[in-house]
Amino acid sequence: MKFITILILTSFMLIGCQQEPNPTDELKTSEKRLEAKAPIEISEEETDKDEETKTGDNTEEDIQLPEEDKNSNAEMVVVENPNSIEVMVNKQRRLPDGFEPTDLVVPDVPFSFSEDHPKKQMQKEAAKALEEMFDAAEEAQLELVAASGYRAYGTQKAIYEYNVETHGQDYANRFSAKPGTSEHQTGLAMDVTTAEVAFALEQSFSQTDEGEWLEEHAHEFGFIIRYPEGKESITGYSYEPWHLRFIGEEIATEIHENSITLEEFFGYGY
Ligand SMILES: [Zn+2]
Repeated sequence: MKFITILILTSFMLIGCQQEPNPTDELKTSEKRLEAKAPIEISEEETDKDEETKTGDNTEEDIQLPEEDKNSNAEMVVVENPNSIEVMVNKQRRLPDGFEPTDLVVPDVPFSFSEDHPKKQMQKEAAKALEEMFDAAEEAQLELVAASGYRAYGTQKAIYEYNVETHGQDYANRFSAKPGTSEHQTGLAMDVTTAEVAFALEQSFSQTDEGEWLEEHAHEFGFIIRYPEGKESITGYSYEPWHLRFIGEEIATEIHENSITLEEFFGYGY
């Protein structure tokens, strides 16, 4: 019950990198307000989820998967290369149930919080590249701060199913990503921010020196801005200048130089 209570308090904040685009201006306004709170609220939720795991309370299994969710998942493609750094997940392509990367490590970079947490992790190769990128930013007198990397399948599953059970499928689809569809689960993504925007994950980050530097240089370290401005109809996500995805230097450079998305690079339409 404790977990459910915590989710009640936090489920309204689960947007940002998890959110889906909304069709009305009213909802967009609501999202903007919530986005600014997302880093803190997600942090609390994930911390609490860890506590739940330690007690052995099998909350996730207590929540039944609704029939309509099974149907919608059946329409999605399950990716065949979940362990590849070239894996592509989006709202139509999901990771296999329960997928977990095998080489998660904590990159040696500054974080926006001090406690140990699974979301500090990335796959080893991505973590090394992130360290190099942060070092280069520091040499340019910039202060990048990491906010959120790996997100476990179980965490996303519990969030989504709780929202379906409590608020209905439509609400859940607007305010939380379906389990298996979050790029954070791959261990190849890191949300990055800076002090100038109070470590928030919001679009104004793109106007900071750090945001502009990332836009120009992230590809040199194998990262892309995964959800670019003006590409919502292709990626399925609003502009997220803070969401960096490791894909390797070669592909990242081609994507950067041609101003395209990962979907366009691989020839997958959204
Ligand atoms: Zn993100």
